[in-house]
Amino acid sequence: MTLPFHVRIEDLKLRGRELRNPGLHISVPAGESGKAFFLETFGCQMNDHDSEKVAGLLLSLGYRQVETPEAASLILYNTCSIREKAAQKVFSRLGEYREKQSEGKVIGVLGCVAQQEGEDIFKRAPWVSLVCGSASYSKLPEMIAQLEAGMQRVTGLDTDTDETFETEVTRRDNPWRAYLTIIEGCDKACTYCVVPFTRGPERSRASDSILREVRQLAELGYSEVQLLGQTVNSYADPTARRMRFSELLMAVAEVRGIRRVRFTTSHPSDFTPDIVEAIEREPKICDHVHLPVQSGSTRVLRAMQRTYSREEYLDKIALMRGANRPIGITTDIIVGFPGETEPEFEETLSLLEEVQYDSLFSFKYSPRPNTPSLSMSDSISEEEKSRRLAILQDKQREIQAAKNATLVGERFEVLVSGKSRRENQWSGYTTAHRMINFASQERELLGTYVQVRVTGAGPNSLLGEHAV
Ligand code: SAM
Ligand code: SF4
Repeated sequence: MTLPFHVRIEDLKLRGRELRNPGLHISVPAGESGKAFFLETFGCQMNDHDSEKVAGLLLSLGYRQVETPEAASLILYNTCSIREKAAQKVFSRLGEYREKQSEGKVIGVLGCVAQQEGEDIFKRAPWVSLVCGSASYSKLPEMIAQLEAGMQRVTGLDTDTDETFETEVTRRDNPWRAYLTIIEGCDKACTYCVVPFTRGPERSRASDSILREVRQLAELGYSEVQLLGQTVNSYADPTARRMRFSELLMAVAEVRGIRRVRFTTSHPSDFTPDIVEAIEREPKICDHVHLPVQSGSTRVLRAMQRTYSREEYLDKIALMRGANRPIGITTDIIVGFPGETEPEFEETLSLLEEVQYDSLFSFKYSPRPNTPSLSMSDSISEEEKSRRLAILQDKQREIQAAKNATLVGERFEVLVSGKSRRENQWSGYTTAHRMINFASQERELLGTYVQVRVTGAGPNSLLGEHAV
């Protein structure tokens, strides 16, 4: 197959790390035109991965990636609007670059804030030239061409699409673990959430295209893949194969060279027994499930339109606890949803006690534009939300400290992904996604899998030593 464009292998790696398959060489130099882009990303893993694809696309269009806005001719922000603070950050960043436009630089806003604010961004920040939401990324080459031709204002704001964003070249940030979006958008309608508005309807990527990319990744030396989606387990293969999500997990795990398969985020309503069976059958499928609950109160869950009750959620936990190997479980929680009473908040605390999560992300409820919860009465004061958040986090810290302490003396396989400035100190993750800092006399371990014996534990990470 001939590629429609060519990128030097140097442009496909970052931070000076070598790709481990130097044999794969794609020719013809990019970035010789003096066109350079700076891309900053806010938000979730899906945004991180969208940025990797946007970067690949720009490299294929002859741009170089640079580390500072000063060195760039095109400055792009891939934005997040899930909570108000995240959206504010974007506007304050844009303010910092007000003068850059007069220096002839083109400034663009991508992602959820772009979709949410649309053309209003031009009013609030008239120095911006490009506003493009994630559902329109496949049109980015056209939009970039329009900007290069001198157009002052270009937008991509349609969400009415059945397309997924696929590129021939993705410039990935991590040389061992590759993100791969398998489903975009969201068809759920949680009353607090902007995602269905900013990312559009649910679209699943064809299973054969996913598997083709996984095989390419394995050839490039990636050994861990993380399948992404806002509700990754709602995956519905659009091809005639009609692969179920659990079958796709198995098929990815079967690709030669792939050693770990992760997936996030799972929605409890679509979390079916066959997913646990796949984890049981195939050790390459990581023993970690991120299953956001949001609240421990069925009344609040109903108001959030989460489509499950506390008991139904606990049934999913029981499925995992009954598996033939332990599964690490993590979650997301929102405190201070409108009308959440003290006893309802306590139900969330008792859920933590009952489930014994390995870790969690917790948020104060943040009212978002267009969402149904915006008009709900009984809003909780910021002060009270902060109080509840602190209580929740203290409780979880205790749970994690106690759980991690039980792991001292155990051995885990770790994918080494970090090297400390301190001599002989390394870090990495177990398949259950526990972070371990450990000592080893080896000279080079990055990207390898090693056995580590746990010698100590804190609430957020483990300490260990290389076990040979
Ligand atoms: N799709 C995933 C799910 O349903 O679990 C999560 C998507 S969202 C990017 C990540 C987390 O942000 C959510 O699980 C929720 O806890 C939090 N979140 C979303 N909207 C929020 C809001 N308006 N206020 C506070 N937290 C919010
Ligand atoms: Fe938002 Fe709910 Fe969809 Fe998750 S499932 S992205 S919280 S609407």
